[in-house]
Amino acid sequence: MHPRDYKCGFFKASEFVIFDPRPSASTWAKIVFIIDQLNPIRKILGQPIKIDSGSRSYEWEIFKKRSGLSQHVYKNGKGAVDLTTEGIEKLEELYKLLLSTKFTRICIYRDKLFIHADFKPSQHRLYESKEGEWERVFS
Ligand SMILES: [Zn+2]
Repeated sequence: MHPRDYKCGFFKASEFVIFDPRPSASTWAKIVFIIDQLNPIRKILGQPIKIDSGSRSYEWEIFKKRSGLSQHVYKNGKGAVDLTTEGIEKLEELYKLLLSTKFTRICIYRDKLFIHADFKPSQHRLYESKEGEWERVFS
């Protein structure tokens, strides 16, 4: 089986590589690890979680005039994911459920209705985006 066809529980690996046409073996392994984090909380949430952005190639980031240093470029770390789910209450619930996973940084964008999560070592875990800046959430 090609890694692209990997499916586990509620998620498919192919959902994570829309912006990364040629994922490396290590990227596929990071995607599997992220799927393992998401499955239990998807079950508790009780409704679909959409993967808006998973792995993004360095070339894609440069094309989009970004730095290439994003955690979405999976070789920069253990990977990152942008998540959406229907309804602001459910998005807030998902934000809190992510605390039970191994993600080390979780940021909610209430204005754009999505959550970014990654594994970058950080002193704090919860953030919220305010006018494009991340602000620490005291919890
Ligand atoms: Zn993101």
